[in-house]
Amino acid sequence: MKRRDWLKYAAGSVVLLAAGGANGKKQAPVEEEKAVVSPEPEGVHTVENEGVRISWIQDNVGERRMPNSLFQGADSTLVRELSPEGGVLASVSCFLVEKEGKRLLFDTGLGAVDSRLLDGLKSLGVSPEAVDYLFLTHFHGDHIGGMMREGQAVFPKAEVYASQMEYDAWMQMPADKNAQVVKTMEAYRERLHLFAFGDALPCGVQPMDGVGHTPGHTLYQTGRFLVVGDLMHGTALQLAHPEICASFDMDMPRAVETRKRCLAYVRAEELTMAGMHFPPEGFIALK
Ligand SMILES: [Zn+2]
Repeated sequence: MKRRDWLKYAAGSVVLLAAGGANGKKQAPVEEEKAVVSPEPEGVHTVENEGVRISWIQDNVGERRMPNSLFQGADSTLVRELSPEGGVLASVSCFLVEKEGKRLLFDTGLGAVDSRLLDGLKSLGVSPEAVDYLFLTHFHGDHIGGMMREGQAVFPKAEVYASQMEYDAWMQMPADKNAQVVKTMEAYRERLHLFAFGDALPCGVQPMDGVGHTPGHTLYQTGRFLVVGDLMHGTALQLAHPEICASFDMDMPRAVETRKRCLAYVRAEELTMAGMHFPPEGFIALK
């Protein structure tokens, strides 16, 4: 599918079922194409569907490829065919959702000196203070790194949501593995909300079991969009071959099972995925 085709799909269309006219006859549904905001700053792309406006914000600078050697179980012929340039095109990304007058941020990137998240938010007119909710897919450093800067919480007013399973698993890890997580969660302690999969979260956000990549890895559905976190690190390989794992997947058999289940769900529901390591511009819809 050409990129513009799925962008059109991602932008979606809203069917307005017009009420009956004076003669009582139902009018034909009116298709209203939602405009993609333009021009857009580099590394930012916004789409809208059914009242949910979602922006991809690339946190990394320049082009990011995942080395082929990262992918387990991919034979070399397959890798050569699907990833001919010696690395799978990817990114480190976050997503901002604007819904019901609230700002919802999904993950925070690396928090590196050259990270682009805050610039991306600024270009969308959103200051760190204006983020109402922060939803975490999991606790790896490329997802929670942007929550802290110089020992301080970057998002001073955000209510933070994470899965209880993810929290518990990381808290039980040795100090050499969880130091960043402990420090970060402590900084947000009074605004931290731990949930079970299936709980109802603010603004109608639904958390889904995405376990495998990490012990409490979470996907979030909002409207017709599914924020998939690290369900896939190399879409060029894993969309067609969900049995392939990245070496980052902590429980590989479970990650494979989760990937297959979630991709089937996306197809059945005709959702658009927003992925933290998807190539620019961050969204993929399946037919
Ligand atoms: Zn990641």
